[in-house]
Amino acid sequence: MATDLVPFEEVWPRIAAELEPLGTEQVALDDAEGRVLREPLRAAWDLPRFDAAAMDGYAVRAADCTGEPPFRLRLAAGAAYAGPGKPPPLAAGEAMPIGTGGVVPDGADAVAVRETSRLDGDAVIVERTVAEGDNIRRRGEELRAGDELLAAGTRLDAVALAAAAAAGAGTRPVTVGVRPRVGVVATGSELVPPDRAPGPGQIVDTNRPLLERLVRRVLGTGPAFSAHAGDDADETARTLGDALEATDLLVVTGGVSVGDRDYVRRTLEERLGATRLFWRVAQKPGKPLYVAQAGARWIVGLPGNPAAVIVHATTVLVPLIRALEGAAEPLPRRLPVRLAEPQRRDRRRTLLRWATLHVENGALWARILPRCGSHMISDLARADVLVIIPPGEGELAPGDSLDALLLER
Ligand code: AMP
Ligand code: MG
Repeated sequence: MATDLVPFEEVWPRIAAELEPLGTEQVALDDAEGRVLREPLRAAWDLPRFDAAAMDGYAVRAADCTGEPPFRLRLAAGAAYAGPGKPPPLAAGEAMPIGTGGVVPDGADAVAVRETSRLDGDAVIVERTVAEGDNIRRRGEELRAGDELLAAGTRLDAVALAAAAAAGAGTRPVTVGVRPRVGVVATGSELVPPDRAPGPGQIVDTNRPLLERLVRRVLGTGPAFSAHAGDDADETARTLGDALEATDLLVVTGGVSVGDRDYVRRTLEERLGATRLFWRVAQKPGKPLYVAQAGARWIVGLPGNPAAVIVHATTVLVPLIRALEGAAEPLPRRLPVRLAEPQRRDRRRTLLRWATLHVENGALWARILPRCGSHMISDLARADVLVIIPPGEGELAPGDSLDALLLER
């Protein structure tokens, strides 16, 4: 019955309501790539650290370069190129060579750029007027020591790590979320590994390697457990039992539906102490989604159909991994798009359709790809987004606005 299906938009709120992030640990900033920050990161020092030249040229006093150019200044002793230490002070009427990133000498309040200044014996000729502060990066203009640089819940990517290190976070450990140990189990007696040619009735197991790769990409480390189980009650119980021992989050594909040989839900609930949060979502593809908990462990049962696996990986599994790490924004990015072509709706279920994006007349347009069966992934491999088509009567028209979820891979 359609009425007992969870509406698509309620799936994440129902998970989030039960979800507690795992604990925290301290790691060196250099080892923190991909990890989720769990305490705000504050600048250890002012940024920029000192008044510095923003251009190559001459450090001057603006008062000496005001009025009618050119201005003739004495070449000062010393220089202020980028490097350790501090240049000597600048006296009135002097100009000192300075490089981008060099410390502005005491007494100087501007940099006359190289392009409009020149050396003439022991004099410097400045050909344009200079105002106080010209071409100087002020100490602390970006951040003051103690200012928040990155909020708790931020994923530390390469740019965040660079910003953190510049502000002094590289000199002490940072507090990040513990990464969940993820287990991947593929069920199905028809499955053979990708390096074996399938015999009659057999197919290649694409879900398990896909899920392993997704886990590795999101976490920066592979699954803690990965196995295959045939469609047999005892084999399923053994494999899922071992998987639960070793993991905080177990994802199972296949065998969660209503078939005679779909043992996953029964086994988890009757033999392994799992409590169901919900089963079956009003969406296409991916209706037989099963979410449960066993103690503090999370279990996500995905249908075996590969497109459904990719959809659920985007909307549920990757967000769950991120949320367990404490990410503030675990969900995929949602974009408003316009439909390039008419699109049928489903009366009861939310359709998730894979599409490419293009920009036209200042808007983002989604062209839905034709091979959209739940068992079809060839077009998904070139899609940019999943377009969300809410349930309803009739057809959507070209130009209609919808939300889409950015696919990451
Ligand atoms: P199930 O959810 O077990 O009924 O499987 C649904 C469909 O997905 C069937 O056609 C299966 O053969 C297929 N399938 C199940 N597991 C996998 C897998 N790991 N890789 C690729 N296809 C699968
Ligand atoms: Mg199966």
